Amino acid sequence: MAAMFVGSTAPASALEAVAAEEVQYREAREELVAVIENRVREARAYLRKSELDPRVMTAMATVRRHEFVPEDLRFAAYENRPLPIGLGQTISQPSLVAMMTDLLELPTECKVLEVGTGSGYQAAILGEFCTEVYSIEIVEALGLRARETLADQGYENVRVRIGDGFAGWPEHAPFDGVIVTAAVDEPPPPLVAQLHTGGRMVIPLRRASGYEELVVIRKNSDGSLAERVIFPVRFVPFTRDRH
Ligand code: SAH
Repeated sequence: MAAMFVGSTAPASALEAVAAEEVQYREAREELVAVIENRVREARAYLRKSELDPRVMTAMATVRRHEFVPEDLRFAAYENRPLPIGLGQTISQPSLVAMMTDLLELPTECKVLEVGTGSGYQAAILGEFCTEVYSIEIVEALGLRARETLADQGYENVRVRIGDGFAGWPEHAPFDGVIVTAAVDEPPPPLVAQLHTGGRMVIPLRRASGYEELVVIRKNSDGSLAERVIFPVRFVPFTRDRH
């Protein structure tokens, strides 16, 4: 009897432990959403709005960021800060991920290109409400890991390619939105070309002084481009070399 008792309760308590952890992560995500709402209000003059698209906030409340960070940093997964993901790269600060996603102003049915997959977190946020997400990562080890995490988390609409994102993903163009998550001097012309009319590119641009700013580039119906500077940012550099 004693053996049966142990045998029948052990799995149950293991399940309970997992369930308790899930509750903790969910609560932490809810707190993070509240922190992001505050950051958005503080940045309203730059964003020209005081609340983000509900689709973006729902995605922030849903995506399991702790699955996208190294295991020993999971405790900090729902703090509003960037974290190292190895190989000199970082997963962006959640509030910045939310703001950048919102700035894409995506239509209901959307096809998006991301350059700089990193952990895959930003791609997952997009995957929550976009029809198709294409993401390119130049560091093979990161791209492979992100692909695995995204598959484990059930993002069948997100595809990751390993390579230099400078050339974009012409086979799937045009995109309703293009998001670049590494700082570059000029918007890569192929990415501009692959943007749908009316679509937006959100990209951190490095200025001559060395400081970086987040820029939204909108492609007008006559093909001309309108640039809007949002605020100063700090990103890892866009690189053309494979590691
Ligand atoms: N969006 C990521 C954060 C990425 S950090 C996330 O949610 O975790 C920026 C990433 O851009 C790094 O992983 C870096 O390796 C990648 N990167 C830099 N230059 C690139 C290029 N030319 N093409 C594709 N990826 C690039």
